[in-house]
Amino acid sequence: MRVFNLFRYAWLIVCIALLSACSSEPVKDSSKSKLCDGKVHRLTVLHTNDNHGHFWRNHRGEGGMAARKTLVDQIRKEVEAEGGAVILLSGGDINTGVPSSDLLDALPDIKGMNLIGYDASAVGNHEFDNPLPILMQQAKWAEFPLLAANIYRRDNGQRLFKPYTILTAGDLKVAVIGLTTLDTVTTSNPDVVKDLDFRDPVTEATALMPELQKQADIVIAATHLGWYFRGEHGVNAPGDYRLANEVDGVDVIAGGHSQDPLFRPDIKNSTYIMQAFEWGKYVGRADFIYRDGILKLTEYRLVPVNLKEKVIRDGKKTYVYIDKQIPEDPEMLDLLMPYQQKGEERLSVKVGSTNARLPGDRAEVRFHETALGRLIAMAQMERTGADLAVINSGGIRASIPEGDITYRDVLKVQPFSNQVSYYELSGKDLKNYLQVIGSMPPDSGAFAHFAGVTMTVEDGMLKKLLVGGKKVDDNKTYRMAVNSFSASGGDGYPKIEDKPGFINTGYIDAEVLKEYIQKNSPIDVKKYAPKGEVKRY
Ligand SMILES: [Zn+2]
Repeated sequence: MRVFNLFRYAWLIVCIALLSACSSEPVKDSSKSKLCDGKVHRLTVLHTNDNHGHFWRNHRGEGGMAARKTLVDQIRKEVEAEGGAVILLSGGDINTGVPSSDLLDALPDIKGMNLIGYDASAVGNHEFDNPLPILMQQAKWAEFPLLAANIYRRDNGQRLFKPYTILTAGDLKVAVIGLTTLDTVTTSNPDVVKDLDFRDPVTEATALMPELQKQADIVIAATHLGWYFRGEHGVNAPGDYRLANEVDGVDVIAGGHSQDPLFRPDIKNSTYIMQAFEWGKYVGRADFIYRDGILKLTEYRLVPVNLKEKVIRDGKKTYVYIDKQIPEDPEMLDLLMPYQQKGEERLSVKVGSTNARLPGDRAEVRFHETALGRLIAMAQMERTGADLAVINSGGIRASIPEGDITYRDVLKVQPFSNQVSYYELSGKDLKNYLQVIGSMPPDSGAFAHFAGVTMTVEDGMLKKLLVGGKKVDDNKTYRMAVNSFSASGGDGYPKIEDKPGFINTGYIDAEVLKEYIQKNSPIDVKKYAPKGEVKRY
């Protein structure tokens, strides 16, 4: 009897110890207790984001899904040999950026993700670059769920995608919720998103949290919200930092959108915020141990996928792997090669040349005007017979290197298939329009490049304006070239597409640029370099 009581007493102590470990977790819905078996469970979370059509390695042999597959397979083998489980997530923006992918509606990228074995992906803003039926088709191609808890259809008030999925990782249940940036509303073609309602991600995540915690031991957010240093998001919508700060119970955020290499996770409110740069250059690897309701990160690494660095050898510059070379997976090569070849054939044709680099990197065009911005604006001005042209820097996606130019180079600069349009307006209305556009802040896609314009904008006020070198007459009519994206109100530009005097030519921007380059080659970059015509204070 006494022995029995002792046994019972000891068992009670064990139970209390287990309970206290588990209940020391912060917010928890009581309807399901987290797995609390006293054992150590290993979980490795792998993640990528902002693939942007980079299914194939680049011209230096960096990245590519074939090497990514080898890497992921190796990690799976290693983790599983130690009794752990692996889940693989994407932070969205599978689409847009590489012509051979864009021409095929990202089919090669999605097939590649299927073969690597992605478990889920967030929906990025660039998933809305194509019309909705294409996105719905992509969701069918994907053998993993596209997740978005905060995107609703206006017609029936239902979510466009599943909000979350529950994964099994060994003995653990892992809830993965998808969240999409509110930037999508302002940065996507309004014609594509007009029937959708993008709701506050924090509100949606907060509402779903009890449901997630009821079903899972660990909650991960696969987000396309962006990470901003100290949460200072500027003109962008708030990102992962706010999600972590305001929603209790998110263990891990595998993010995207701001395209940051976070070599160490940012930890906010006990949430690990992670992001793996862009284009499949890295695979983020987070090794966790879980025990009695507590999740601990033991190691984090961004693993480079055949990335190289420039070194000087024997006086010559060359590129060497920054880590060991990862062989490409043959099955993946077989899958992707036909797509790559199809793309190569279509796009490798030389269309012109340039005597120097035409600068179009994000860190350039979003901060100051460049020769490439001016060149694009001039191409659109010429095609439409306009007096001036404006182009949003968010519509300039890459630089063109010195030398021969192919259609592929041009499509990298303008991958969105925006249409070139023009607007005829009075000098008075033009002044108002340019005052708004000229005040768009740097470090945003709204920051504008111009052709045909000399102006000064000070504290949001237009102080000086010349068009074609002449003073603007309030009563005269001017023709301004602008792309369909900006005209429909994208990036917060004034909506002009429904105004009298607005004409959409239907010409695709990349085709207009390609033809201009063809006609004016070799391009003399000095001729297009801005010379302080537009001053902003
Ligand atoms: Zn994005």
